[in-house]
Amino acid sequence: MGKVAINLATGSIQTEDIIVGIDLGTTNSLVAIVRKDSGEPIALRETDGLTLVPSIVHFDEYGNTSVGNTAKERLLKQPERTIYSVKRLMGKAYKDVKDHAGAFAYNVIDDDTESLVKVEIGGRFYTPIELSSYILKELKKRAEHLLKANVSRAVITVPAYFNDAQRQATRDAGRLAGLDVLRIINEPTAASLAYGIGAKHHEDRTIAVYDLGGGTFDVSILHITNGIFEVLATNGDTYLGGDDMDSALAKHWQAQLGIEAGDKTIMQLLRITAEEAKKYLSKHEKFEGTIGEKNVSITVEEFNALIKPLVDRTITACENALRDAGLTKDKIDAVVMVGGSTRVPLVQHSVKEFFGKELYNELNPDEVVALGAAVQADILAGNNKEMLLLDVTPLSLGIETMGGLMDVLIPRNSKIPNRAGRQYTTQKDGQSGMRISVFQGERDLVKDNRKLAELNLTGIPGMPAGLPKVEVTFLVDADGILKVSATELRSGVAQTIEVKPQYGLTDEEVERMLLDSLTHAKEDIGTRALVEATTEAQQMIDTTEKFIANYRESLTEEEAATTVTHMERLKEAIAAADKDLVQKRTEELNEVSRPYAERVMEGALKDAMKGKKIV
Ligand code: ADP
Ligand code: MG
Repeated sequence: MGKVAINLATGSIQTEDIIVGIDLGTTNSLVAIVRKDSGEPIALRETDGLTLVPSIVHFDEYGNTSVGNTAKERLLKQPERTIYSVKRLMGKAYKDVKDHAGAFAYNVIDDDTESLVKVEIGGRFYTPIELSSYILKELKKRAEHLLKANVSRAVITVPAYFNDAQRQATRDAGRLAGLDVLRIINEPTAASLAYGIGAKHHEDRTIAVYDLGGGTFDVSILHITNGIFEVLATNGDTYLGGDDMDSALAKHWQAQLGIEAGDKTIMQLLRITAEEAKKYLSKHEKFEGTIGEKNVSITVEEFNALIKPLVDRTITACENALRDAGLTKDKIDAVVMVGGSTRVPLVQHSVKEFFGKELYNELNPDEVVALGAAVQADILAGNNKEMLLLDVTPLSLGIETMGGLMDVLIPRNSKIPNRAGRQYTTQKDGQSGMRISVFQGERDLVKDNRKLAELNLTGIPGMPAGLPKVEVTFLVDADGILKVSATELRSGVAQTIEVKPQYGLTDEEVERMLLDSLTHAKEDIGTRALVEATTEAQQMIDTTEKFIANYRESLTEEEAATTVTHMERLKEAIAAADKDLVQKRTEELNEVSRPYAERVMEGALKDAMKGKKIV
């Protein structure tokens, strides 16, 4: 930008735009940068000492917004105008969130379509992308104020289980906030980068990242080699977090004091005091306070008993993640602790005991993701040439081919950016268009996978079937966004689309897709063989029928009759879905038709030669 400014956070002179790292959290968000002088990542701190900005947006009657703590204060008085946990809605359709609609005090809209959810506030409709963009705008504004510099480029983190639609929505929110989002990276990847794990060449490590936030829990098993972060498994519960600890304690006191559940104000007061007590107990043995006029107290032991079932659930998820990754505990080299709720001593203790390892927990757990995003931003800015960073595709990408088969162009866990291409052709004579359907998933039949997009290549000049050469190219950019293009090579007719899925999968669906591909692997191989055999048989029947229609007079009565019988027999085999029988009868039909086909073609060729004029 050519502007010179003093960076208040680091005291150094700032001559260019800084690329920031942003943790856009469900509960809290924050910005971090890498200090120019020391190369250390730091979280940006307000004058009041706080680094975290609650991910809450309040809308007043005139549509003016406030974000962060000021918005949080309105939660109680104006719940229908105060939007929290919007991250849960990113890239989702109403059907994905309807089971949890009760978790939102504001109005989440079902417009009866499969498109993205909206939120209604005072008669106006907002998309989760817009709502998130208010949070990002606020973070950008604060960062610019603190850094006295332009902030226009950012790296934003998302959970490892976010799918394309959710990542794209996050990227769009950034764009809407006036940020050029250079990269979307996984939260566990960021956390491990903050600790410098996996940043060196030739490093080979397997780590667990345990992230317990305000309302969500996830654990990821990462395998890191040569700067490639591969997510081996992720598990967790998107409705389990520190908030549940607060409610457990609030309920305990409520019962103790004999408070009726109907009183909203006192219930909210209970919850606020419970969170305060929980945080206090992370450092002290006993909390004493008041709810209204009444005294309340809680010891660490009592608190631990209340939250033990919650913590146990996170440990079960760790077991599941290890199982899904096909690993035992002793294969884990390091355990990284992420999220404000990992400050709870029982959590620390339980995780350490389960993995039997020292934990990486020296950095602030609620800042560690943003710090890692800043490290990534610094790498992208070219300041850190030591590190290299690559990501991989979470699910395979491919297109539908004959018989509804999935033809994979880019397999799961491929490094990105990535490019792959393959040639296809037409099935019918004179076919002028070709529909290319793009799918994501691990199953052999596209109907079991997820459709991402459809591209129509039109204007192919008339040619006999099999002659056009259509090259389909997949390009996955560094953010995991897919671009598909199709070109008919003989004529140069081309089409391109950027794949922006209309709505997302639920976390459970992504998990199910991966599990399905494992459980159905055997069955899929069988199905694929049958589909391939059937496709070939069907083509054989079509060609034969066409041939007979054109050259009936060149065939003997007997030839025609046998052919018809064999076609019928093949059709029966197809109907019976018997692969071996289909293959056998296809071969038989071929044997029957070959002699006269050759004879007729030879004759036709001679005729053609005769008629040809030599100029
Ligand atoms: P998210 O990733 O969901 O945005 P955070 O990582 O910021 O969330 O975690 C927020 C949660 O951490 C809240 O439930 C908060 O009460 C909890 N938390 C913050 N500090 C402490 C502490 N000292 N002890 C226990 N819990 C804490
Ligand atoms: Mg978080």
